Formats: sequence, structure tokens, C-alpha cells
Amino acid sequence: MRCPWCQQLQIRDLTLKEILWPLTIKETRCQVCESKLCKIEAPYCMLCLKKGVASPCDDCRMWQTEYPSYDFQHHCFFQYNEAFHDWIYRYKFLGDYRLRGTFTDEIRSFFHQHPKAIVCTVPLSSERQKIRGFNQSAAILSAAKIHTVDLLQKTQHTDAQAQKNRQERLAMTQPFEATSLAKEIKGREVIVFDDVYTTGRTLFYAAEVLEHFKPLKIRTLSLAR
Ligand SMILES: [Zn+2]
Ligand SMILES: [Zn+2]
Repeated sequence: MRCPWCQQLQIRDLTLKEILWPLTIKETRCQVCESKLCKIEAPYCMLCLKKGVASPCDDCRMWQTEYPSYDFQHHCFFQYNEAFHDWIYRYKFLGDYRLRGTFTDEIRSFFHQHPKAIVCTVPLSSERQKIRGFNQSAAILSAAKIHTVDLLQKTQHTDAQAQKNRQERLAMTQPFEATSLAKEIKGREVIVFDDVYTTGRTLFYAAEVLEHFKPLKIRTLSLAR
């Protein structure tokens, strides 16, 4: 089987479970790729998982002031290090669609703990989707066979976040509105997924729109932070 990141062929013994149920065969990352990733480990901010800071971190305090009634809880798997940057560059900006399954293991175990949640991804504008050819976040969840519901749509085409500095990112205006499906989240747990958490601006806007529909809880998830 191939490493879902570097695509190199690798040889390993199958587990008994995988032999009995071939559908459960996992595409695990090779050791070289694995060694480049940096998992989030304590100490970190309990709200956004920013590493090496007190909790709540300065960013989260700022968000608490802006959204005092929103019970924010973010989860992510890795630190945004150089290797993760290379991965996202290849996947998102060079459009290497094969990389969508790189983090399927982590995604599946996270959603396994939230079986009843309604899951949605941060939408792209139709212009962006046309340029890229796919919604990078939706493709990651689809590779992990996580069912998603389009609760949000983008009302305006914005410049790519990656090209902006922190001030420009934070200055962005609300880019989302709810779809007709959003009324289904009343009293339910919702998880909003975006590939990367940078300032939090995008996910807080997403949550702001969804809060109107009185969900039980909105969690946010990204691969890296
Ligand atoms: Zn690899
Ligand atoms: Zn924080």
C-alpha cells in the first residue's frame, strides 16, 4: 500500500482484523512522513489548543470578549510546522487531490467520539471552488467517510486567506450565511471543520451564523493549528 502523504509504496504486515475485514485496511503514513509531524501536546490553551501558552490564551480572551455567550471549544491534531505547511501547499495550492486521505485516521477517531454530531465544512465561494477544482475540507472528510451537511454558504468571494497577514485576516467581514438546512441543528451538537486554524476568524464567523439556530453545542475542528 502507499503512504497517503508521500505516496511511496510501503510494506507492512496486516493486522488480523484487516485480514478478516479488508475494508478496514488502513492507509497509514510511512515512518518518514510520520516523524515530520508534530502532535499537539500539553501545555496548551484548553480552548484553542495553541501550544505552550496559558489558558485561555490571548487570542481566546479576545474572542471571549467578542462572543461572550459562545461556548468555544476547538480541537486539532498537529502543530502547523514546516512539514504541515509543505503538505497543505501540495494539497491545497498545487491541488494534489491524492493527499486528501493523509489524516483519515485522526479524523475517524475524532468523529467516533461524536457520533451524533451534525458535521459541516467551511464553504468556498463558487469562484474559489472553480479555481481549485475541489473543496479541500470537504474532500478530507469525504475520504474519511464522514457525512457532512452544507449548513453554510459563502455570500462573497474573498481573497485567499493564505495571502493575508494577521491584521488583514481579522479585518475580514462576515462571509457566510446559513442554508435552509441549518434549521435542523436546533438542540443538536454541530462540528465545523476547516483545514487550518490560524486566527480563528473564519470559524468564529461560521459559529456566529449557526448560533442563531440554537444548537446544543458548536465544536470546531482543524487538522493543524
Ligand atoms: Zn510517507
Ligand atoms: Zn486559545
